[in-house]
Amino acid sequence: MIQIKNAAEIEKMRRVNAISAAALKAGGEAIEAGITTAEIDKIIEDFIRRHGAKPNFKGLYGFPGSACISVNDTVIHGIPSRKIVIRPGDIISIDTGAKLDGFNGDNACTFACGKVDMEAQRLMDVTKASLHLGIKAALAGNRIGDISHAVQSYVEENGFSVVRTFVGHGVGKELHEEPEVPNFGNPGRGPRLVPGMCIAIEPMVNQKHHAVKTLSDGWTVKTCDGGLSAHFEHTVLITPNGPEVLTRDWEGADFRL
Ligand code: MG
Repeated sequence: MIQIKNAAEIEKMRRVNAISAAALKAGGEAIEAGITTAEIDKIIEDFIRRHGAKPNFKGLYGFPGSACISVNDTVIHGIPSRKIVIRPGDIISIDTGAKLDGFNGDNACTFACGKVDMEAQRLMDVTKASLHLGIKAALAGNRIGDISHAVQSYVEENGFSVVRTFVGHGVGKELHEEPEVPNFGNPGRGPRLVPGMCIAIEPMVNQKHHAVKTLSDGWTVKTCDGGLSAHFEHTVLITPNGPEVLTRDWEGADFRL
């Protein structure tokens, strides 16, 4: 069932998602050549706990980290590791969230280590822009498919592909709630958006083919063809006056949809 949040619950969602966004930003700011993904994970976990919240990814379905940190051809669910060392020119997708007062935050961003090649930069730019277009379609009265279509059509116009195997989701008392929010689909289809719904919109975009595979560790998801992948995510509240981006703080002060 899709949970509709009341005013008090929305306040809690605002608070926990602000912490999630600040933690993601702190993780991104820590990126430099030579750092390991385990060290980035520790910075994020410490940040979340310092702000009185818990890292909601830790232990969820048995995941060992506080953040999923996915480098280059890793799409999502990269396990933080002392063996994964960031190098100049890498792109690093960090997905993390917090839990506070019984409610969850969730967001992701792909960061660059130093200067990356033009194609990697374009992949990140297109993925982020597709997220913003998806959010703009998150209007009360629209349907989930309007978001899906906005993301997919922009990504494909730009020559990239959207991952099918994993999708966005509702967020609230559980990190993953109904409805599913696919990054592909037709406009006018799927559940209708109503004020008080909170959804995580999270395009995962591959440079080449959309096919992905899960490694034998049971978590790490990579592109099948070795192409790069990017991932951007916001938790969004549907309001009568348009989408409210609850995790907007990692975008910077000049953020406009
Ligand atoms: Mg998510």
